[in-house]
Amino acid sequence: MGISKAMYSQGYCLTKGCKDYNQGTFLSGIEPTYICHRCNEVGRVKFEKHWPTRYDSLEFNQVRLEFAYWAPDDTFKNLFVVTDENRDKACNVWNIQTPNVKTEKIANKIATDALGFLQRGDRSIFEPNIIIRNSEIILDFDVPWPRLREDLDRLASTLGGSRLCVEHKKT
Ligand SMILES: [Zn+2]
Repeated sequence: MGISKAMYSQGYCLTKGCKDYNQGTFLSGIEPTYICHRCNEVGRVKFEKHWPTRYDSLEFNQVRLEFAYWAPDDTFKNLFVVTDENRDKACNVWNIQTPNVKTEKIANKIATDALGFLQRGDRSIFEPNIIIRNSEIILDFDVPWPRLREDLDRLASTLGGSRLCVEHKKT
């Protein structure tokens, strides 16, 4: 777990009838527009966003993570909240909106890890455009293999110097 200023986003096709409709494609860096590779129409770009509710307290007791992004409505369909019950109710809250998470299991892992990281009390989390992340979780391993391969290549070039490796075996 750590913090990053790298911007991650997904591009979505909004063309009804296109095979890639509402499918996310991992984009590296800041790309203002997304053109669907299949239908060539302009789609929608969604960034992952992290921010504290207040900028005056490092006492975090809650992480609220919005996930299950639905591109046609530009909304998140689910919210996962993790709270440290041992801390005071008046604590600070960290908010996350991420198009990179689809399941509650992953949402739970990210939110819990983020809360653990926040409770270390590192002031740098108040800097602009901070993302708390665990790099392996921004990949969606449920996508078809050629897409995952592309995502891995993009991620590897974004992270520069990192080694990403995944084994794929046909069953
Ligand atoms: Zn399309």
